[in-house]
Amino acid sequence: MKVIIIRYGEIHLKGNNRDFFESVLVANIRKVLAEYKYEFARSNARYVIRSFDEMYLDEIVDAVKNVFGVHSLSIAEEVDSDLEQICQTALLFAPSSGTFKVNTNRADKRFPMPSMKISAEVGGVILDHNPALKVDLLNPQHTVSIDIRENGKTFVFSQVIKAVNGMPVGTGGKGIVMLSGGIDSPVAAYMMAKRGMSLRAVHFHSFPYTSMQAKQKVLDLAKIVKKYTLRMTVDVVSFTEIQTAIHEKCPEEYMITIMRRFMMRIAERIARMNSAGAVITGESLGQVASQTLESITSTNSVATIPVFRPLIGFDKDEIIEISQKIGAFETSILPYEDCCTIFLPKRPVTKPRLSAVEKVESALDVETLVNNALNSIETVVIE
Ligand code: ATP
Ligand code: MG
Repeated sequence: MKVIIIRYGEIHLKGNNRDFFESVLVANIRKVLAEYKYEFARSNARYVIRSFDEMYLDEIVDAVKNVFGVHSLSIAEEVDSDLEQICQTALLFAPSSGTFKVNTNRADKRFPMPSMKISAEVGGVILDHNPALKVDLLNPQHTVSIDIRENGKTFVFSQVIKAVNGMPVGTGGKGIVMLSGGIDSPVAAYMMAKRGMSLRAVHFHSFPYTSMQAKQKVLDLAKIVKKYTLRMTVDVVSFTEIQTAIHEKCPEEYMITIMRRFMMRIAERIARMNSAGAVITGESLGQVASQTLESITSTNSVATIPVFRPLIGFDKDEIIEISQKIGAFETSILPYEDCCTIFLPKRPVTKPRLSAVEKVESALDVETLVNNALNSIETVVIE
């Protein structure tokens, strides 16, 4: 019978909490497999999926591969722990040329042969059938693995499919990711989900200055991110009143600096409303004027909960690589305007002094503007 073996990564290291991490991981695996029929079993620090329709094998492997906490998978044949059956099955996994070795793990000590001997027997049978093959125990091109379990069954497999690793989403607290339509913020969301954080998103738009397509693009990105975060809700906040007020009352070079502070305040309020403990942004040090240390200091100073910037030390190239890997890039580069592009100053301050920023900002009724923006929220649950 064809089965899928799932191995998990870092949660191996957990002591007393391991049950909690595992239960979240299992729930997440089940969530991505909700539309399939299968049997799920725990087997000694790994899971086994059986009795699925083989037509969906690739889809199931693909879905599980992207669940954070999963280290690797193998597609195996499960047979009775009987040498003849094991040899015949191993032949199905044997390459016809190149170098190979057989690797045996004998968890069932009742099996009447030491693992070295089993490997030698199976290897011999494979060689008999494939004269062009050579054994290489040190650096083989192919490995045929034999895993003799305690329950009288044996897994035979060759490939180990690498999965995303990380920690199960839901074990790392909850955060609000500031999701723009750009390349960086979806990658930032991915990075935090990878460490087990549950996420909700906030997006600021400036309708009618920004289009419905610009908003739809962000919802499309949220849907891509959801593949990894498993759940996604986006609070779409109207930013028009705030931008207009800043434009009218503050010197133009402070536009972006002050906008950022409003975004941060609103994101933090949304975090508190949703019992989230952190705000996440896609900032990377020095990438643009609003991401210098001084600019970040000015934005950060309005926050009272941790702000995570998982891309802070990444180059744009590195961010793009991840963006492509997670399937967000093509959507991110669609040419719709972001709210930050309206009233854009010709010469933004690159090193704002906090005291100057606070003075400029004092022309505004911050509390009322923030409350109005919060009242404008349209909440979109991504299906
Ligand atoms: P991105 O590629 O994520 O848009 P960026 O390089 O364009 O980032 P900025 O525009 O300076 O950089 O934005 C920095 C961060 O601020 C973004 O990564 C995002 O987390 C947040 N942000 C910017 N604009 C918005 C917006 N309209 N709605 C929500 N968050 C935003
Ligand atoms: Mg942007």
